[in-house]
Amino acid sequence: MSDLEKDPAEIVSVCGDGGPVLEFLEPREVILGRTTKVRRLLPNKNRRMVGAWCFVDHYGPDDISRRVDSYDVPGDRGMQVPPHPHTSLQTVSWLFEGEIEHRDSVGSHAMVRPGELNIMTAGNGIAHSEVSSPDAPPMLHGAQLWVALPDSVRTTTPPAFNAYADLPMIDFDGARATVMVGTVAGVTSPAPAYTPLVGADITIDPGRTLTLPLTPSNEYAVMVVDGSLSVGELAPSFGEMVYLGSERESVELVASDNGVRFLLLGGEPFEEQLVMWWNFIGRTHEEIVAARDAWQEAIAAGGTDRFPMVPGYDGAALPAPTLPATALKPRPRAR
Ligand code: MN
Repeated sequence: MSDLEKDPAEIVSVCGDGGPVLEFLEPREVILGRTTKVRRLLPNKNRRMVGAWCFVDHYGPDDISRRVDSYDVPGDRGMQVPPHPHTSLQTVSWLFEGEIEHRDSVGSHAMVRPGELNIMTAGNGIAHSEVSSPDAPPMLHGAQLWVALPDSVRTTTPPAFNAYADLPMIDFDGARATVMVGTVAGVTSPAPAYTPLVGADITIDPGRTLTLPLTPSNEYAVMVVDGSLSVGELAPSFGEMVYLGSERESVELVASDNGVRFLLLGGEPFEEQLVMWWNFIGRTHEEIVAARDAWQEAIAAGGTDRFPMVPGYDGAALPAPTLPATALKPRPRAR
């Protein structure tokens, strides 16, 4: 997915943490382009990142067969995100329901489906499109996440796309997990990760308790996508996130009487400060300006070495918005 906000504000927050905490992170609604309404969990007002996870959008469940009237765009249906660029990050596309058609500038063409991981590594530059194809199922429910790449690899690791249909799963007593990225309870995903990272899709049966083993050096958050759970005195339900902090050997999660499905996100606290603007991540204002210029040049030229066009996409690429008048500043991971 792309950050399609017409006038993306510079994302501001600041730092200071450590240890186990319980911090409620509320979603805010963002309209992407003309057709998709999402709830943005990261960056959040007080917390920009959890581990290297720096962007979390949760969308749906939406009946996309009925979206046309509500958004006033005849012919558009579900997600319609034209080719747009990324730098210095990985995108993780994860569906709970529905189907999205992915194409990218390294030549990949893939259908994103529930329970299957699609992870795209931008390196110094990649472009991709994501659309609900005409024969996609009517319900769409998913999450779009970004992982910041560390400075040591972010411009040198080659652009890549990896899809995994058969991820490792863990059976707990009364609960089960699919390991998307990184390691959960000693089980590791095959997906490429460049920092200690955790991403898992976990279901707990109604009324059951899961004591989930954690790695103390990692920080964690849970994002509920169905039902609700209790963790300490907090009870996040659909669309809500709770930050758990770090220094935990485990956490006790209690499903409501309706059960719960949630994403566990975590990783080693990411100490590098980021400049995030539109679909670019960098370390300086100048770097973002250069990436924007390079993308606009690529659109005009029909593709460049840094940003080739997306083969097979029928339509125009997405131009970058205008930069803000003031310089973008590097920001730490938390307020
Ligand atoms: Mn994208």
